[in-house]
Amino acid sequence: CGIVGVIGKTDATAVLLGGLKRLEYRGYDSAGVYVNDQAGHDHLVKAVGKIAALEAAIGPDVQGVMGIGHTRWATNGKPTEANAHPHVSNDERFYLVHNGVITNAAALRAEYLSDVTFASDTDTEVVVQLVAAFARAGEATKAAFRHALQLLDGSYAFALVDRLDPTALYIAKNKSPLLIGKGAGFNVVASDALAMLDQTDQFVALNDEEIVTLTKTAIQIETLAGDPVTREPFTVHLDA
Ligand code: GLU
Repeated sequence: CGIVGVIGKTDATAVLLGGLKRLEYRGYDSAGVYVNDQAGHDHLVKAVGKIAALEAAIGPDVQGVMGIGHTRWATNGKPTEANAHPHVSNDERFYLVHNGVITNAAALRAEYLSDVTFASDTDTEVVVQLVAAFARAGEATKAAFRHALQLLDGSYAFALVDRLDPTALYIAKNKSPLLIGKGAGFNVVASDALAMLDQTDQFVALNDEEIVTLTKTAIQIETLAGDPVTREPFTVHLDA
């Protein structure tokens, strides 16, 4: 159970797979990636089992310059391909990976999404369908994401993609580990710095209930209440 994300690298699929392999120690029952080439092509690939099974399911055409990846340790719903992440909204606009457990997912589904058909049994799908519902009601992506986050009980590390604007990745965390890796002309995100140490040694810590908008050149952090946060990166030294 871990998440990874990247924006601004031409080999996004390889960066995500490499990161997922280094998160394998956290345990998993299934895995998946979503990549987008910012030129109108995107791919969602999931597999039950080891990262090697996911890698085998990824064809040479699965390329992108940004994307998100996940190793799942099932909490809500069996370890199946349908329950593997990334989860996608029914309008196929939003893609979401999640590490953690949303404890009020069933109540939120009943209150806000009674007319929505679900493709999985996960708490995570409730969140991505909520974001899509708020966006359909006219909210901009970050506002829709924040709106959903404000309703959640439980733990999460999230990475969200809006395929209508794949120049940004939206990140949030509460009680699950997550940090940003700062690169030169790219940025990454991961549950553990170890996952992305081959990409950068500059990391930015996140606090609970912070939202980050990540582009290839910017790391914009704010609180759930909307106050901007300034935080410098620190250097992670890997002892050989
Ligand atoms: N609660 C989510 C699920 O069951 C995420 C589990 C995880 O952290 O891997 O799919």
